[in-house]
Amino acid sequence: MSRDMVRIAVLGSTGSVGRGVLDVVSRNRDKFDVVSLSAWTSVKLLSAQARAVGASRIAVGPGGFSTADVPAGVAVTEGADALEALASDPDVDVVVNALVGASGLRPTVAAVAAGKRVALANKESLVAAGELVMRTASKTGAEIVPVDSEHSSLFRCLRGTPDAEVDSLVLTASGGPLRDRPLQEMSAAGLEEVLAHPTWNMGDKVTVDSASLANKAMEVIEAHWLFEMPFDRIEVLIHRESVVHSLVRLKDGSLLAHLGPPDMRVPIQYALSYPDVPENSFERCDLAELGALHFERVDARRYPCFSLLLGAGRKGGTSPAIAAAADEAAVAAFTAGFIGFGDIAVVIERTLESLRPTSSTDLQSILRADADARAVAEEITSGLTRSGVGPNGE
Ligand code: MG
Repeated sequence: MSRDMVRIAVLGSTGSVGRGVLDVVSRNRDKFDVVSLSAWTSVKLLSAQARAVGASRIAVGPGGFSTADVPAGVAVTEGADALEALASDPDVDVVVNALVGASGLRPTVAAVAAGKRVALANKESLVAAGELVMRTASKTGAEIVPVDSEHSSLFRCLRGTPDAEVDSLVLTASGGPLRDRPLQEMSAAGLEEVLAHPTWNMGDKVTVDSASLANKAMEVIEAHWLFEMPFDRIEVLIHRESVVHSLVRLKDGSLLAHLGPPDMRVPIQYALSYPDVPENSFERCDLAELGALHFERVDARRYPCFSLLLGAGRKGGTSPAIAAAADEAAVAAFTAGFIGFGDIAVVIERTLESLRPTSSTDLQSILRADADARAVAEEITSGLTRSGVGPNGE
């Protein structure tokens, strides 16, 4: 990578991580040059972003855009293939993958195959295709620098720590918006309540996944691949303040922790600048103001999605792709008001039961598993909707 300007592609630039990336860029105009941006539907915002940062290429979802919105001189491409082209663009050094769900998978594979640094915020890339992505990266020399706050913290704690000293990893979880809801009332949680995250401000999909802890199970799978850590050496603790983002347990019993404010721009800036750590003016953590930090074990009874996804991750092959696709379909149905919160776990469980996973981890097998799981999950979802087990149990 050139030591001058870092040339960046931001896939998913209108989402919360994408907007954070552009905020970091706007504070470091001398360091970063945004070459391209993408959004599936928010074309007006995308065009405004392209104008603001001077991007020369944008990719949008198929149809549904007016060239009148697009600034002069900006090349527009359409559809899923366009994302792969941006991800492997020779004029780009760092590909930020802030896409939601399995749509992020192929662009990650393309970027890694092209030897890019991938600033990875898309969880499904490693959940569904961790083996493939890491194998390809080791061939091409592509760097994967995590943007997820927990993995960014682990990455930083592990930087300079010899592997031989590391015993295990500890991921923290806020516990999500339903952490204090009585166990028997978990499944009936309404959309508004589920979307009210106590510490992080994120998109709907990841916020719902935080309430069910599906998000944390995916993060365990990501950590397993990113840091080559066996599953039984990755622990999850509920930590309601979201200040300790993760910890590394060393063999002598001591722990390394990485703390910071719950602000995604910190891991974003780190992934763009690594190995440098530029100064910024973001809010500082006032530990005296916080007073106390709390840690609790995960009560698995509260979070069936956590166990289902983690089980699929441990199984490997196409299992985690099936579980993640079922989760994505179920969360979409929940946010659209078709099924209840508790039904998300039902959809994942039944989808996993109906499909036979294979041990293949090539891209075609994973994409097929994803498509099959989505179809099965949608069938299960409409069955649940018809049987009226839906949102309010009516
Ligand atoms: Mg996270």
